[in-house]
Amino acid sequence: MSTEFNSRVTLVTGGSRGIGRATCIALARQGARVAINYVSDKAAALDTLTRVRQVGGDGAIFQASVEQEPAVRRMIETITTELGLIDFLVTNAGIAVQEHHSELNLESFRRMMTTNVEGTFIPIMAVKDGMIERGSGGIVCVASVAGLRPRPLNIAYSTSKAAVVAMARNFAAALGPKVRVNCVAPGLIETDMIAGMDHDSRDVMRQEAFVKRLGRPEDIAEAIVFLLSDKASFVSGQTFVADGGRITLP
Ligand code: NAP
Repeated sequence: MSTEFNSRVTLVTGGSRGIGRATCIALARQGARVAINYVSDKAAALDTLTRVRQVGGDGAIFQASVEQEPAVRRMIETITTELGLIDFLVTNAGIAVQEHHSELNLESFRRMMTTNVEGTFIPIMAVKDGMIERGSGGIVCVASVAGLRPRPLNIAYSTSKAAVVAMARNFAAALGPKVRVNCVAPGLIETDMIAGMDHDSRDVMRQEAFVKRLGRPEDIAEAIVFLLSDKASFVSGQTFVADGGRITLP
């Protein structure tokens, strides 16, 4: 185990389920103290905490919607009091909706931008000054390959994730040299988010992937740990694609 995460406080937004949960567990294995954020599923957040403890880690759960700036700032004060100053941030909380363009409307578009874009901006704004003052910090934003490729049935989602990619790149330029900011862009990952996807579509995506499988939350968690670690000390402003190779298809 590397020592760089030892007792370092890491906030994972949307840490209650899916990719966020796997990230909390992977970070706990490295010795980080994990602040597990959730919005509504307290039982799932507590389950993540149990799993964090099972791997020998430490942490606590914190409720706040990433869309609500006062709530996020209060949460960060509470985390600082209970666990310590925040060293690392993973902006993972997000939502996805599949909509044909005929169903898309301003309200659903704004909802996606509020959760996925403002929900990334607000936590970064709330932790960045502390990281700059202490002269170290790391941020990873969870984007999506949908932010890099056309997704005609996910226009709002794809747009929001492209904004996350740009936001990470710009914060990386602004917050360097002490604070690195990167993105991870997952392909299809087996979580609650894709629970409604039909079997045939999954199968097509599985066959198209060079590795002939869909992604697991742990695949993305390991990429996030790497980007936060000193092993990635020369990597900033980048988007790391983890999708089994599908992005290279025409
Ligand atoms: P998931 O299983 O649906 O979990 C979503 C997580 O986000 C939950 O922990 C949820 O909290 C939290 N959340 C949602 N809205 C929130 C809010 N307003 N404030 C705080 N937390 C909120 O999703 P996932 O598949 O793990 O996705 C995680 C991230 O990866 C998202 O940004 C998603 O866009 C991205 N991603 C996923 C895939 C995929 O195929 N799964 C692919 C590419 C990118 P509660 O438990 O309290 O509801």
